[in-house]
Amino acid sequence: MIIVMKHRATAAEIGTVVSQVEVHGYKTHLSQGTERTIIGVVGDDRPLENHQFELLPGVEQVVRILKPFKLASRDFHPENTIFDVRGVTIGGPELVVMAGPCAVESRSQLLETAHAVKEAGATMLRGGAYKPRSSPYSFQGLGEDGLELLAEARDATGLPIITEVMSPEAVALVGRYTDIFQIGARNMQNYALLQAVGQTRTPVMLKRGLMGTVQEWLMSAEYILSGGNYQVILCERGIRTFETATRNTLDINAIPLLKQWTHLPVFGDPSHATGKWELVAPAAKAIIAAGADGLIIEVHPHPEVALSDGAQSLKPERFAELMNDLRRLAPAVGRTLS
Ligand code: PEP
Ligand code: MN
Repeated sequence: MIIVMKHRATAAEIGTVVSQVEVHGYKTHLSQGTERTIIGVVGDDRPLENHQFELLPGVEQVVRILKPFKLASRDFHPENTIFDVRGVTIGGPELVVMAGPCAVESRSQLLETAHAVKEAGATMLRGGAYKPRSSPYSFQGLGEDGLELLAEARDATGLPIITEVMSPEAVALVGRYTDIFQIGARNMQNYALLQAVGQTRTPVMLKRGLMGTVQEWLMSAEYILSGGNYQVILCERGIRTFETATRNTLDINAIPLLKQWTHLPVFGDPSHATGKWELVAPAAKAIIAAGADGLIIEVHPHPEVALSDGAQSLKPERFAELMNDLRRLAPAVGRTLS
């Protein structure tokens, strides 16, 4: 449930309600909006009765939340979550484009790509050092050497970095380098991993699982939030359907739906959603038109020799063209892109 306080509720009245909730063994989450304060009750609150709180001074209304996610829900936190990553604002009116190779392959490949995406206007650099490959015989990533190269590319370009972490044991190591943890689609329901990143204060991008419903996805976000890490980005990257002509099916509906259901920033990944470079630009535009806060896109200077995901990687020139198109599209949906 949420307890909506009156417009002029005092700090003491809010404090009394919070302690009443805590007396019953629940945690609270406070959302201090411009108009009023909302006190969210965290946990299975079915045993509580509305009237236990309705009669307390300063309380306007007690509302039952039927959805199982709480901290992730817009009812708990009506205003958009906006946060800063090394000077880049995530979730604000300015769109954020993260770009770079699927995998860090070499120093020259990464630095060349990083400079090119920065030149085109990307504001963050992506690159996997640990790759969740479908085959154990495929390139698995450079590991810590890849993290070192990402840090070097960040120093050289000023772009903050995002990279995937695949296991709870690796969270400390990856966290020493990255500005955002990427949780890959295959790990959306790896609850031990979600709990581990939830214990950090490093932002997390949670990609949608191949078979994850929007509700399951938000429950996964809830694992991270309930650890106290509120800097979570959701990324729609396509889901598995009967259609095999494309790698995945971009669930465009999920974007405006998430904007209703949650306050968390929503991104889209047109590269994994389509699997074909020719479809990446139109899918990217659709994602922005649907109301997303940003994109994560694979770019490779020589896709034909890429060690992973070459078929869906844009060459830098094509990425630059897409950025120009997005600059024209952004104002039509109330956004900016510099
Ligand atoms: C990736 O970003 O390279 C990746 C593996 O993505 P996903 O987890 O969405 O498949
Ligand atoms: Mn990839």
